Amino acid sequence: MKLYRLYILIIGVCLACGIPHVGRAQTDSQKFVVVIDAGHGGHDPGALGRISKEKNINLNVALKLGRLIEQNCPDTKVIYTRKKDVFIRLDRRAEIANNAKADLFISIHTNSVGKNRTVKGASTWTLGLAKSDENLEVAKRENAVILQDSDHQTRYAGFNPNSAESYIIFEFMQDQYMSQSVHLASLVQKQFKQTCRRPDRGVHQAGFLVLKACAMPSILVELGFISCPEEEKYLNTEEGTSSLANGIYRAFLLYKNEKQAMAHPAAGTEPSPALQPVAAQGPATSAPKSEKQQKPSAAKPSPQKKQADELVFKVQFLTSRTPLKANDKRLQGLKDVSFYREGGICKYTCGASTNYYQVLRTRKAISSRYKDAFIVAFRNDEKTDIHQAIQEFKLKQKR
Ligand SMILES: [Zn+2]
Repeated sequence: MKLYRLYILIIGVCLACGIPHVGRAQTDSQKFVVVIDAGHGGHDPGALGRISKEKNINLNVALKLGRLIEQNCPDTKVIYTRKKDVFIRLDRRAEIANNAKADLFISIHTNSVGKNRTVKGASTWTLGLAKSDENLEVAKRENAVILQDSDHQTRYAGFNPNSAESYIIFEFMQDQYMSQSVHLASLVQKQFKQTCRRPDRGVHQAGFLVLKACAMPSILVELGFISCPEEEKYLNTEEGTSSLANGIYRAFLLYKNEKQAMAHPAAGTEPSPALQPVAAQGPATSAPKSEKQQKPSAAKPSPQKKQADELVFKVQFLTSRTPLKANDKRLQGLKDVSFYREGGICKYTCGASTNYYQVLRTRKAISSRYKDAFIVAFRNDEKTDIHQAIQEFKLKQKR
């Protein structure tokens, strides 16, 4: 069974990578560039299991993934953020990818959850605002390493990995790469489920600092839970790490081939056998998605018709110890300016609307003037949890 699968994979790899490029010697600048980022390293072990450390599992899988690409895809350049057990800062990892003008960034991690020893499975993440506390915790844990950096306050612009408020910024990040990142993430997840036979924990978004500065589509993979003894064992076997590397590799191939087919439609290649199982499911899942995405704009909630209990989003852009005069220069040119008091401070907001997307646009519009502005939510004029509010808004839009 395993030999058969390997055989199919080899044929697939040849078709997908080798044959179309035979005789087409590519210079480095023409190559597809992928950065493989083994999470943690050196004095940062990452999550700790009973028999192993996250940093070593991540590195094993990263090296195997890189080797698969190097051996089978002559049109791809692989760059590693680390190839051995060394510490690399989070911002440096993104910098490596940006300097290389990479097409893709894949960060490899291993999950862990408190005292629960039964939770297991693989998940794939993209940059965004976490939709649940559980998801936020994953980002908090992965970002906590910056606290070991004595100048993290300046290096990461005052970002506090433990404060939920810090994470609001991730709602506005990376819009242009979001759909490609989510697409790759879903390809990886399909492979984890179908090829690696891992319990499927889905595709999620959260505020990972390592992805924040990446100027390209990027994902963060959580291979499994080191906190689950059974899964930790698996993650420490040759079979386990090879299978997971293989799963990411196959997703990578699909993604790259799609990209290249789009860039050079005339050179369109037939989908290779290795790609068919996943490709066959592509249209069925992607078609309804785009329909869904169109719905919200057609049924825009009107900001005028405010009802009791309805959520109102606003952009908070300024604070002051005392109320400002109406003609204060700092308030000029802004719509719907008001303020609320919190902890004895006047907090100024603008652009109130029940439509969260509208407020996002307002926030973007004033971002050059107020770069630290962020979105707050109110229910019956009382400030309410922004994460929940966004979730509620998005749920309502789906209905
Ligand atoms: Zn990690």
